[in-house]
Amino acid sequence: NIFGKPNAGKSTLLNALLGEKLAITSPKVQTTRHRILGILNRAEVQIIFSDTPGIIKPEYKLHEKMMQVVKFALEDADVALFLMDATDSPEKNRELFSSLKVKSSKILVINKTDLVSREKLQEINRLFQEQKLEPIIEVSALKNENIEALIEKIITLLPQCPPYYPEDMLTEKPVRFFVGELIREKIFNLYHKEIPYHTTVLVTQFEEKNTLTKIAADIIVQRETQKGIILGEKGKAIKELGSLARLDIENFIGRKVFLELHVKVRDRWRDKDIFLKEYGYN
Ligand code: GDP
Ligand code: MG
Repeated sequence: NIFGKPNAGKSTLLNALLGEKLAITSPKVQTTRHRILGILNRAEVQIIFSDTPGIIKPEYKLHEKMMQVVKFALEDADVALFLMDATDSPEKNRELFSSLKVKSSKILVINKTDLVSREKLQEINRLFQEQKLEPIIEVSALKNENIEALIEKIITLLPQCPPYYPEDMLTEKPVRFFVGELIREKIFNLYHKEIPYHTTVLVTQFEEKNTLTKIAADIIVQRETQKGIILGEKGKAIKELGSLARLDIENFIGRKVFLELHVKVRDRWRDKDIFLKEYGYN
């Protein structure tokens, strides 16, 4: 299981480990809201990776749900990967990691090595080695550097047991979940300020027709003004959102897609259990 502060690169790392784009990523914090499993199958080995939301202090109910996801993941991991951004403060990360209660084996993974000097990496290494905490592996998730070494290290720490999942399985969530996530990713990349944080996506239709897949999704916002921003002038913004999302979804499912998007206002959905449940935040 992969843990760390927001923006450490957890989702990027999951994708690098799997060699597939499963988890959405963005330069903004708190892009990931769910736990996402990715299953790596090799001869004699199955590793079930899980990406989790970045660890934060909850400010609203959606945050609380996100931190429950982290807590649950901390409890059931065989190996915990503590991921830190090499450009971030090593002291703060050390503090965070030592506050997490895990009984499993741990690996400290230093990410974004492409952004820092050798000296900086040595400094981080020294700080963590003093405590003899755990093995340290340096990677660049984005550039796919040293990922194989990390996988090999993980394998040495895994228990011997029969595979949990069939060997052709990549993940456990349904395709429609990932479709919703890809749309959400585009919202994180296209809109600013509070918009991505006040928005969620619900896929309402997923139908395989002869030559294409018909998909409809609701984009849920908290206020009428936000609906206007999502739509943009003369619907320009949502049109761009739709075409970027459609391309990614087509890539993901390997079929042509007809995508229909509707924007709906649900007053303070992030604070209401009934909406959180409807939108898949259990
Ligand atoms: P998460 O919040 O921990 O899941 O972080 P993301 O995986 O969404 O990544 C946050 C940002 O960091 C994105 O813009 C990524 O492209 C970027 N990023 C992730 N890994 C690396 C890396 O190894 N090098 C660089 N330069 N950027 C990275
Ligand atoms: Mg993430």
